[in-house]
Amino acid sequence: MKHVAFDGRLVILGFGSIGQGVLPLILRHIDLPAERITIVTAEERGREVAAEYGIRFILQAATRENFSDLLSPLLSSGDFLLNLSVDVSSVELMKLCNRLDVLYLDTVVEPWAGGYTDTSLTPSQRSNYAMREEAVALRPAFAGGPTSITAHGANPGLVSHFVKQALLDIARDTGAPVATPPPASDRAAWAGIAAKLGVKVIHIAERDTQVADRPKKPGEFVNTWSVDGFVGEGCQPAELGWGSHEKELPPDGHRHGFGCDAAIYLMRPGASTRVRTWTPLEGPMHGFLITHNESISLADYYTLRDADGTVVYRPTAHYAYHPCDDAVLSVHELAGKNWEMQPEKRLMTDEITHGMDELGVLLMGHAKGAYWYGSRLTIGEARRAAPHNNATSLQVTAAVLAGVIWAMENPRRGVVESDEIDHARVLEICAPYLGDVVGEYADWTPLEGRGVLFPEAVDTTDPWQFRNFRVV
Ligand code: NAD
Repeated sequence: MKHVAFDGRLVILGFGSIGQGVLPLILRHIDLPAERITIVTAEERGREVAAEYGIRFILQAATRENFSDLLSPLLSSGDFLLNLSVDVSSVELMKLCNRLDVLYLDTVVEPWAGGYTDTSLTPSQRSNYAMREEAVALRPAFAGGPTSITAHGANPGLVSHFVKQALLDIARDTGAPVATPPPASDRAAWAGIAAKLGVKVIHIAERDTQVADRPKKPGEFVNTWSVDGFVGEGCQPAELGWGSHEKELPPDGHRHGFGCDAAIYLMRPGASTRVRTWTPLEGPMHGFLITHNESISLADYYTLRDADGTVVYRPTAHYAYHPCDDAVLSVHELAGKNWEMQPEKRLMTDEITHGMDELGVLLMGHAKGAYWYGSRLTIGEARRAAPHNNATSLQVTAAVLAGVIWAMENPRRGVVESDEIDHARVLEICAPYLGDVVGEYADWTPLEGRGVLFPEAVDTTDPWQFRNFRVV
């Protein structure tokens, strides 16, 4: 079904796993002829996919020096820039689109090449917190201008909508149903629901079990989505939204000292920081605490303050990611080489034989303990639903599609984060592409099974303290 008709032109910047995966969904669900779409990308990768759909393909990397000259002739008032590249500054693209009166969406706040590991910056300055602050600082100047959606893929993105649905489910199941969900613009009302339910911690709990017909080789980084994207964020400091129930800052935890103050960072890379988490099919597991935009945006959105601005409620929020097993081995090897990237990289696509991506949100600390809500999508289901996707990419591309449609339907909203978008509309558009969307309660806590083989310093008075989740 076509969700929307679009009169303008669409430029897709970057055409890797997400660009190639979203193109067939755009052509299927948006009334927009192929002649009005242009791809601009830095590599030959994907040229044959563009040709399959009759899309113009421009091979040219965007750089600090050329991005405005490269993109401006392709875009004018009412057009759309869909940024699915790596190494191109999202904030600079947002500014360009605002100047040209062009709609915009990206899936992460990306810096220029090298920005994630630029040692001339402090760890705080190269954090996602700092990058998000820069993007949301554009809000006042862009108010009423063309819609500019920042960080709307699966996570960040779709998971913000899962959180809202999970809150409504928990409210229903604990005897306090929300008759009319507040609009997404009403942050205080949504934060009030989370606070009233007593949600203390939100994990983005993901287990990817996809496997290929050939194992990872030594010297090769293998993943189910962008290797550059994953290594980039994995080498940033671990970051988490810092909840109001937390008793003590971790020994290596730091506040940023500027901006919204909803999050902290740890003085170590996320790819070497592990936490205990849980998903319905995997059960208890260790996940990497990789920094992500949603850890910060969720914590900020669900903050309640009293009249003098003091924080009275905020959940702890962070990613707990168990990537596919070959990616875990790849991270292990990368860490051993002191974060020097392997000479070869491989994005798993056609060689995947089985497995699924179990991606959801785990809300903890409420009356029913823990509740996971999310998508279970197998590689078989993903291939049947859309070409040029695996299970991981389809969860992202469906959410990109939904964000693009929402921007086209709401074209004058200025800067918008995922939490500020109507969750019901996004979930409705994504539904055919998410496999089983399920909610499951669990009596799991991070104290389960602890201190049996060896003594462990845990806080038994409150299972939901970050120190209980962290693997040390
Ligand atoms: P990929 O590595 O498969 O592809 C990246 C693409 O960007 C390639 O086509 C490459 O040629 C192009 N590119 C690189 N440098 C460029 C430049 N200077 N100018 C123009 N194009 C350039 O990555 P992917 O898996 O498709 O991911 C794309 C982006 O989406 C990444 O930033 C990634 O972090 C993000 N992502 C977000 C989510 C989410 O859920 N929010 C999930 C997956 C990926």
